[in-house]
Amino acid sequence: MSYLSFKPGKKHLKASANNRVKEHSSGSVKKAFSQWIIENYGENYTKELSNQRSKNDGKRFKSTFLDSSEKSEIPTVGIIGGGFAGLYSGLILQSLGIECEVFEASGRVGGRIDTWYSEEYDEKDVNKAGLYGEVGGMRIPQFSEDMLPVQHLALSVNSVLKRNKLDDKIIKWRKFYYNSDVQRLRYNNMKSPIEAHDASLDSLNFGIDKGGDLPMVWVTEAKASDGTPYLPINMVLDKVNERFITVINESFSKGFALLMAYDNYSMWAYLTNVFTLGELGEYYNPEMGKESDHLSYNIASYLETLNVGTGMYSVSFVEMVIAVYDWEGSKNSYAPEDPNVYMVTVDNGMQHFPDACRAVLDLEDGVLHEDGIRAQQLIGMIKGADGKKGYSPDNLTKAAEAPATVPKADAIPPVAGTPSKSKQRVFMNHRVTQVDYDESLFNGYGGMNVSLSVTNDSDEREVEIIEKKYPYVISTLPNGAYLSGELKTNFFDNLSFSKARAIRECNYMPSFKAFITFDEQFWATLGNRQNKGLGVAVSDRSNRQIVYPSYGYEAKSGVLQIYCWAQDAERMGALTDEERVNECLKGIAYLYPEVNVYDLYSGYKPEITTKTWFWDNHANGGAFALFAPGQFKNLYPTLLTPEFKGHLNFAGECCSVHHGWIVGALDSAYNAVNNILKQAGETDKIKQLEKTWGALSAPDVVPSLKKDAALV
Ligand SMILES: Cc1cc2nc3c(=O)[nH]c(=O)nc-3n(C[C@H](O)[C@H](O)[C@H](O)COP(=O)(O)OP(=O)(O)OC[C@H]3O[C@@H](n4cnc5c(N)ncnc54)[C@H](O)[C@@H]3O)c2cc1C
Repeated sequence: MSYLSFKPGKKHLKASANNRVKEHSSGSVKKAFSQWIIENYGENYTKELSNQRSKNDGKRFKSTFLDSSEKSEIPTVGIIGGGFAGLYSGLILQSLGIECEVFEASGRVGGRIDTWYSEEYDEKDVNKAGLYGEVGGMRIPQFSEDMLPVQHLALSVNSVLKRNKLDDKIIKWRKFYYNSDVQRLRYNNMKSPIEAHDASLDSLNFGIDKGGDLPMVWVTEAKASDGTPYLPINMVLDKVNERFITVINESFSKGFALLMAYDNYSMWAYLTNVFTLGELGEYYNPEMGKESDHLSYNIASYLETLNVGTGMYSVSFVEMVIAVYDWEGSKNSYAPEDPNVYMVTVDNGMQHFPDACRAVLDLEDGVLHEDGIRAQQLIGMIKGADGKKGYSPDNLTKAAEAPATVPKADAIPPVAGTPSKSKQRVFMNHRVTQVDYDESLFNGYGGMNVSLSVTNDSDEREVEIIEKKYPYVISTLPNGAYLSGELKTNFFDNLSFSKARAIRECNYMPSFKAFITFDEQFWATLGNRQNKGLGVAVSDRSNRQIVYPSYGYEAKSGVLQIYCWAQDAERMGALTDEERVNECLKGIAYLYPEVNVYDLYSGYKPEITTKTWFWDNHANGGAFALFAPGQFKNLYPTLLTPEFKGHLNFAGECCSVHHGWIVGALDSAYNAVNNILKQAGETDKIKQLEKTWGALSAPDVVPSLKKDAALV
């Protein structure tokens, strides 16, 4: 999940050897985690896949199952949803020569990747080129092995765009400025805000001496054995994680077994019922209580307030520990001593990325396996011609280029080729309303009936109802969207007990964003903000975070993003649009008391100077999946399991261990395509899939999962 993990205590103290995520495991831990859950809790998943793949007495689906009239008209796979899971499924299938159609309900691809552009935005005018903001996903850890498939996709798509002279659609990464020493903090009516470089030894008015409720022992400066000063309260989270990270670094299976013993706990429950003061080790002070005591309410409250947002510690403890690995992926994996955070975002807005994917899908020929191999080499997913891994993709702006410690990649040359004919595979304003299994389809092989409502782009009125049939369907919707609101018909009928329950119960996290334009970028002067970026300012007001723009430095005016989750988001979301903006303005003024924020505000003009967002209606409640206690063990394998003898496959960010990340959508799509290939007995295509797109984290691709490997 892409949340803020601000720890004011980290600056002075070096992470101990134990609580540092090891370089070798930081990238691949989630791959291993997914595999481990399936091996240990996925008995039904593997049994079900085995049944599905042995159906029809070993007969496999081949194009010969279609009679000649069906063959010309019916693609093999129907894909529901034009977010990253749907687009990636389509691009993989296109590269394997398997026909597919993608149906997107709205007039835009990208789903939860969605850039808001002010009506005054103008990419070519320096004063207007920064008038946008990211409603959905906005940043990618640059060197995380787990996250590299996102950059791989961009490079692969770029190769096709270049061959087709579609240079204006090329995806370029620019630097995303995640944090800085001058980002501001203000909590509990502090007299004035402070900056991050001064925060590590500040109690932020949480101590009882300043009207808070933390006993002074937690917020009184202490000294580590090497003389480095620290506040004990800021050492707690590292110590909570250390127990697990130490063992995971030694052995994935031992570490995950230890972690999953606490799968039934929320983060809050773990802190207040399991973690003991004695586990603080060198940071323990008897004035805190007995070594066997657990953390009190006020300690958990401080940690939640600083780390995420109100109510967010009610999610699974396992989610919170495992998220540490995603954030460690923002470090330079080639030089572990480098303290900087490396993140990227798409130049001129994330929306360009799904738009580019759609442009490629609507060509007859897509990504070639040479494109995929070159892309893997350029970013260090595989070794280059020199036998070493390196990183030097050709789609970075200057500021996003890797530091000198990162070796250059030695990749094969690009394939020249010729432009392709066009072929429509993505259908906009096509809302799927019902999906039904029919075992008589395709000469008794079985398949899915899909009902679609085609709407008018301008007023979203239904203009046509279409019925389609596919041997296989991949459905990529966020679980809330299966509650379709249709009269009389359900989206799915006759799902298995466990799938219906998983869809119903999979927990989603609410999120709120707002974009507010100011006539002047009062947060930093021109020159000061260039080549540096400012990161994120934080407070205890409901709007919680101000994300400073990572673009538009040269302009006079600029857009601030407000971002929060959980109960903070629900409360902001309950207000009217203008009230939300008012709350955000007060939150900004709280962090900038020396500025007349209201004077510099460009005024309430929705879609021109302001935009607020809460619970995108395509996600239908919640922004991204974040499991509740027990859901890794009990729901995760089921979410991945295909239904109806393998004809209906599921993908989307919720069907991955990377909740709330684009890469989760990609991993889940890879897994769904892989399931179909296995079901259809397409062994050569599975090899081609791995060669072109890399061996991703699909749990049943990993060879060590012996039970399932035997099914190929
Ligand atoms: C606020 C927020 C911040 C985030 N930050 C980051 C970040 O910084 N970095 C990162 O990597 N990730 C981030 N993410 C996560 C990332 O955006 C998602 O994980 C990813 O985009 C999900 O893709 P998806 O394909 O699974 O789902 P979606 O993008 O939701 O795609 C589903 C698609 O299905 C369509 N649809 C819905 N109903 C129907 C229907 N009946 N018929 C046809 N189509 C339908 C929708 O319109 C949508 O286009 C963030 C997400 C949010 C919400």
